Amino acid sequence: MNTKARILLIYTGGTIGMSKDFETGALKAFNFSKLLKNIPELKQLDCAIETYSFEDPIDSSNMNPEQWCYIGSVIEENYDSFDGFVVLHGSDTMSYSASALSFMLENLSKPVIFTGSQLPIGDLRTDAKENLITAIQIASLLENGKPIIKEVCLYFEYKLYRGNRTTKINAEHFRAFTSPNYPELVESGVHLKLYPELFLSEISDKPLQLHKKMDNNVAIVKMFPGMSETVLSGILSIKDLKGIILETYGSGNAPTEDWFLNLMRKAILDGIHIVNVTQCSGGSVNMGQYETSTVLKEIGVISGKDITTEAAITKLMYLLGHDIAPKAFKTVFETSLRGEIA
Ligand code: ASP
Repeated sequence: MNTKARILLIYTGGTIGMSKDFETGALKAFNFSKLLKNIPELKQLDCAIETYSFEDPIDSSNMNPEQWCYIGSVIEENYDSFDGFVVLHGSDTMSYSASALSFMLENLSKPVIFTGSQLPIGDLRTDAKENLITAIQIASLLENGKPIIKEVCLYFEYKLYRGNRTTKINAEHFRAFTSPNYPELVESGVHLKLYPELFLSEISDKPLQLHKKMDNNVAIVKMFPGMSETVLSGILSIKDLKGIILETYGSGNAPTEDWFLNLMRKAILDGIHIVNVTQCSGGSVNMGQYETSTVLKEIGVISGKDITTEAAITKLMYLLGHDIAPKAFKTVFETSLRGEIA
């Protein structure tokens, strides 16, 4: 029996649904019904599509944890009625949202696919149609009536990636995303080429659980030669700061100067979690490989291994939202929760 997949299309905003403001010429989000009018092809798809739109669609630069909770709630409320979810989202912060939702949605057994476009859907040369149509087709893939993909993904320019492995790499190219440390899950060509051995398999048969508590007392600090003690100590003394993602050099290396290591030591003693993430676009942190990371390892800096900054900051917010004992925090962070880390 051929059961049609039921797909909920959630529109949050982004270029895909934008048009030019007559006065300023700037792109801004428009109403969802206009967006759907531009894609009559959706009717030809072999699935039943329903839609849900943010009341005020946004440019994804305005995305925040509250909106993530909102997206999560829409998925939670409609979870039993649909086989898959496609989230239309601006590309600028799409990797952050896909990462955040991957943590917030525990025990996911259906696909949640983020997509968007570099050109508005009404533009003659738009990349929106391919992205949207293929994202819906992938979300509709069923086996014995059950979804094949059971994780939060991001589809862009012929590739489906694990969402929390992605990063936006280009502001102009249609190929705007990459997944530097994990291969694509599906490739779209004449046929859809699936790599099921790379998919997250269902971890448990427990019901979906939406975690809404995200603690944003966090910061991302990118190291650079010449960073001063005043700047770093200023950041570390921010009131209520609970954790930082420290973007270091290469395989997790940082200065060995006393002032720097003393600040790190003091922050950790004060209960601030410091996560070491490489500022390279690919590869992994390996503290202890060089002398310039040995002390970081000794004083209890958390290894972000091969995680992206987007997944690291959202994982930090997610874990800080849970009451994890300080002693266990490092181990939990260094463990893969949703396939975000090696
Ligand atoms: N500024 C837009 C946004 O992120 C860019 C895009 O959608 O591609 O909402």
